[in-house]
Amino acid sequence: MTKNTKTLKSPTPSPKPTTPSPSELRALFNGRVIAPDDPRYEQARKVFVGSVDRRPAAIVRVADAGDVVRLVSLAREHGFELAIRSGGHSGAGHCTTEGGIVLDLSGMKDLQINPADKTAWAETGLTAAEFTAAAGQHGLAAGFGDTGSVGIGGITLGGGIGFLVRKYGLTIDSLLAAEVVTADGQLLHIDDKSHADLFWAIRGGGGNFGVATRFKFQLQALDMIYGGMLFLPVTPDIITAFIAAAQAAPEELSTIANVMTAPPMPFVPAEVHGKPILMAMMVYAGDPAEGEKVVAPFRALAAPYADMLRPMHYPEMYMPDAEDYHPMAANRTMFLEHVTRTEAELMLDRIQRSRGMMAVTQLRVLGGAMARVPVEATAFAHRQSRIMANLATIYTNPAEKDLHEAWVSEFFAALQQNDRGMYVNFVGDDREQIRAAYPGGTWERLTALKAKYDPTNLFRLNPNIPPAANTH
Ligand SMILES: Cc1cc2nc3c(=O)[nH]c(=O)nc-3n(C[C@H](O)[C@H](O)[C@H](O)COP(=O)(O)OP(=O)(O)OC[C@H]3O[C@@H](n4cnc5c(N)ncnc54)[C@H](O)[C@@H]3O)c2cc1C
Repeated sequence: MTKNTKTLKSPTPSPKPTTPSPSELRALFNGRVIAPDDPRYEQARKVFVGSVDRRPAAIVRVADAGDVVRLVSLAREHGFELAIRSGGHSGAGHCTTEGGIVLDLSGMKDLQINPADKTAWAETGLTAAEFTAAAGQHGLAAGFGDTGSVGIGGITLGGGIGFLVRKYGLTIDSLLAAEVVTADGQLLHIDDKSHADLFWAIRGGGGNFGVATRFKFQLQALDMIYGGMLFLPVTPDIITAFIAAAQAAPEELSTIANVMTAPPMPFVPAEVHGKPILMAMMVYAGDPAEGEKVVAPFRALAAPYADMLRPMHYPEMYMPDAEDYHPMAANRTMFLEHVTRTEAELMLDRIQRSRGMMAVTQLRVLGGAMARVPVEATAFAHRQSRIMANLATIYTNPAEKDLHEAWVSEFFAALQQNDRGMYVNFVGDDREQIRAAYPGGTWERLTALKAKYDPTNLFRLNPNIPPAANTH
């Protein structure tokens, strides 16, 4: 790759931010600079969430780590707002900016897989599905989330809870090393020996500490699985029985149970559309014949509307995303200790009361490998949480935002139990929620490291951890 050695004459850092012009930017970067004068601008500024509609001064589709260093340095010197984008799925729209510059990693998709030692170096512009498909060619895998278009950048830095969570832990539990450009413009190789404090912080601390350009993952031998989707009728008893079965199952099985109002999908009977169902996504990460036996108790809960569980190659779990799908959602993340009839009844009641297009309570039974990592080993500290729940309603009319936010807040308050933690990859800018993502001493450790690695809070478009001195 060409190394661009040009630099823009640095202004003396001043409190008044300035933004270089598109032509100045174009002279600096190996990657493409997309400004409002570019016909690709409208498409390039779109992010996953439909309610986020910001107009950056430019989107710099960086080509290499050198471009990342240059853009970070430029942002520090000029003071413009810098947004970092990998897959663009941030619910709060942290991957874009009004008037600032987007550092877009989607052009950096190099992937070096070493089948001999089952490791991979991956550039952070890859999506979960792209990584998984390529690793799958070698019968290897690392766990990400439930959606293929999510970027490996964002999901990894927040933790990563997906189809392999009980068998192989969080995404960060497979992270062996990373390359990160810090706020001072240095490209650092970090692992548990080199800058170990920073390596601890990026495993759950989100994008607060720098731009990750590459990750090194430990891969697992995983070719055929038993899994897919199971659509069941739903009652409070079916919900509690599903959760009990998921907790009793061997940790090869990870499940995601969506108690939801059925969308008009062809494989769900028309009379059920808009009514509650239980849509489960399941992966048995082991011998498919054994997996078939393990899922039998779930199939026996009720006559399924549709049973799509089968032996498959692991990458098949990521179905292609609908073209140009940009939903608006009111959502909350939480952890539950138990799901009894009381909680199950509440879930069914609330999803039917939502005035959104589709409402869902998503339940993920945790434990297994994720829970065996010591709480203090990474900045993700909810190792002992038992069940993750996401409450959401999808809507189409932006004018109804307050109505749906009120629904989700009330539902959240009614369902809350003693575990007050939250998963950072599903929180936005609410300070209390961000604090809840980092319990115990984790917050103090993170704010101290933020002061060390990013004292001016250059990386602030994220669930933000302020530098220690600013917290008093
Ligand atoms: C439909 C959907 C399904 C999801 N399912 C799951 C799931 O099953 N499990 C799960 O754990 N999470 C899930 N998530 C949450 C997801 O992990 C987070 O939204 C994640 O932050 C998205 O990453 P991204 O790279 O796509 O997003 P982006 O919007 O590009 O980035 C998200 C945040 O990370 C920062 N960031 C991204 N890349 C880098 C980088 N290389 N260096 C520094 N900072 C960076 C961004 O600045 C931003 O603050 C889901 C989200 C959606 C919208």
